[in-house]
Amino acid sequence: MKASERIEEALEVLWECLMEDSSPQMEAENQLSQKLEISLDQLEQEGLVERSAETIQFTPAGKKEAERAIRRHRLSERLCYDIIETDQVDMEEAACQVEHIVKNGNEEKICRLLGHPETCPHGKPIPPGDCCRKAREAKERFVVPLTSLKPGEAGTIAYIKAGDSKKLQKLMVMGVLPGNAIELNANFPSFVFSVDYSQYAVDADMAAAIIVKRG
Ligand SMILES: [Zn+2]
Ligand SMILES: [Zn+2]
Repeated sequence: MKASERIEEALEVLWECLMEDSSPQMEAENQLSQKLEISLDQLEQEGLVERSAETIQFTPAGKKEAERAIRRHRLSERLCYDIIETDQVDMEEAACQVEHIVKNGNEEKICRLLGHPETCPHGKPIPPGDCCRKAREAKERFVVPLTSLKPGEAGTIAYIKAGDSKKLQKLMVMGVLPGNAIELNANFPSFVFSVDYSQYAVDADMAAAIIVKRG
């Protein structure tokens, strides 16, 4: 393994300890010495971590590096699992093999291909890139709460954002279900909409829970 690869792996391990583990500080040093032939001293010399007697933390540069390494690693896992259909057992090795493809400036393309995934196949979060943020914004303009429609405007129900199950149940009884067509008929004094040949009136809170795909 090259020195740069050892450092990258160390940063990934540290990311999991420091950013995702609930009992990080003591663990980090142990895990690092067990898994890798690299010491925290080395990482400190590279300006990637800062240590005091009790704590280890990333420097801003180290945090950025680690986040990128984790993102590439987990995107590689997704690529193996979703596209190449490697099974979970062989995934770690396969992921290492495709990681260099992801590295060579293809990261955004691969992220787009995979639909900007939020988690790896193990369920761990993939730090979002610029491409993910842009995609999210574009989609958000397209998918809006019912309260954002103008009277007479129609769309398709995308999902229901109900905080509690009572609200969800009430809406479902009205036929507010993903995929159903919905039209806003009025927005004052209450929100009146038609769905499934019936018309209902709800308050703003309820209407805001119905997320609609415009058009
Ligand atoms: Zn994973
Ligand atoms: Zn993305």
